[in-house]
Amino acid sequence: MPTIDWDPLVRWFEEEKRDFPWRKEISPYRVWVSEVMLQQTQASVVVPYFERWMERWPTIEALAAAPFEEVIKMWEGLGYYNRVRYLYETAAYLVAHHGGILPSDRAKLASLKGFGPYTVGAVLSFAFRQKAAAVDGNVKRVLSRLFALKEVTSQEKYEALLNEQLPQEAAWVVMEGLIELGALVCQKKPRCEQCPLQSQCVGFQEKIADLLPIPKPKEKSIVLHREVAVIEMGRSLLLRQAPPGSVMAGLFEFPYIEKGGSWPFPLLGKEEVRLPLVKHTFTKYRVTLYPAIWKLEEKKTVPSYTWHLFEEVSKLPFSSGHRRVLHEYFTYRGFQ
Ligand code: SF4
Repeated sequence: MPTIDWDPLVRWFEEEKRDFPWRKEISPYRVWVSEVMLQQTQASVVVPYFERWMERWPTIEALAAAPFEEVIKMWEGLGYYNRVRYLYETAAYLVAHHGGILPSDRAKLASLKGFGPYTVGAVLSFAFRQKAAAVDGNVKRVLSRLFALKEVTSQEKYEALLNEQLPQEAAWVVMEGLIELGALVCQKKPRCEQCPLQSQCVGFQEKIADLLPIPKPKEKSIVLHREVAVIEMGRSLLLRQAPPGSVMAGLFEFPYIEKGGSWPFPLLGKEEVRLPLVKHTFTKYRVTLYPAIWKLEEKKTVPSYTWHLFEEVSKLPFSSGHRRVLHEYFTYRGFQ
C-alpha cells in the first residue's frame, strides 16, 4: 500500500468543512450525541434535532434525569429507535457508575451500550483527540478508491489500514477530513476533479473509482402487510406502547395484525371507513399498513391498551408508519 501524504486533505478540510453545531464547543457528550444521530441520517436533517436536544439536555446528567417518553418524542422522525434507547440507557449508566462522564479509554467505551466500532473511534478521535480510526460509509468509500480495494473489505480491515496510515499528530483532522471528503467530493459518483487526494488515488489512476467500493451481497428485505385499527370513542383513541424488546419499543401504536391474522381482542363496534394505505420502511422491513377507523359507542377495557384524548395523542411519540396513520385519521376527521 502506498503511504498517503495527508497534508492536501488537511488543507482542503480547513477550507471546505461545513459549519455544523457539533463542530463548535466540542465535548465528548456533544460528539457522542451527534455521531449517534448521524448514523443512518443526513447531516442537514440532524442539525435541528441536535440543537433542540442540546438546548433541552446540555449534559449527560440532564439527559439521564429526563423522562424517557420525552426523550423518544424528541427523536421522533429520526428512526432507528434503538439508537435513542441506548443513548438514554447509557446516560443513566454513566451517571450511576462513571461520574456522568464518558471514559476516554477504548475498552471502556466499547463496553457501553450502543457503542459500535465507529462510535468508539469517533468519540476517541473527535472528542479526545486520540489517534483512532472511525470508519463509516464515507470513509469506506474514500479508502476503497484511494487504495483501489478490489474485494469486499471488512470494517476491521479498513480500521487496520487507517491505523497504519494515520499520522501520530492531529490524526483527528485527517479522520474528520476523510469523512467530509466522502460526504462532499468522493460521493457515490466521485468528483475527482475537485479532490485534494487525486494525485495519490489509485482508483482514479486506474479509472475504476466509480466501481468501488465492491458492495456486500444485499440482505433480503422482508415485506409485511398489516391491518391497523384506529379505534375511536368520542374524542379518544385506543393505543398501546410497543412492548420492551420489540423494534418499536416505547413508541405508541394503534392495534394492528398481520393481514389475514386474527385480532387478539374482539373489534367491537363497526368499521366506519378505510383510510389511505401507508407504506413505510424501517431497517430491513418494507411495510404496507391498511388502516381503518372503528367507532365504538362506549369505552371498552382492552389489556395493554389505554385510551388517549385527541389533544394528548399528537404529543405522544409514534413510529413513522403509525404517525402517518394518525395524520390520515386527523385529515379524515378534518382536524388538520
Ligand atoms: Fe475519491 Fe476521486 Fe478523490 Fe479518489 S480522486 S479519493 S475517487 S474523489
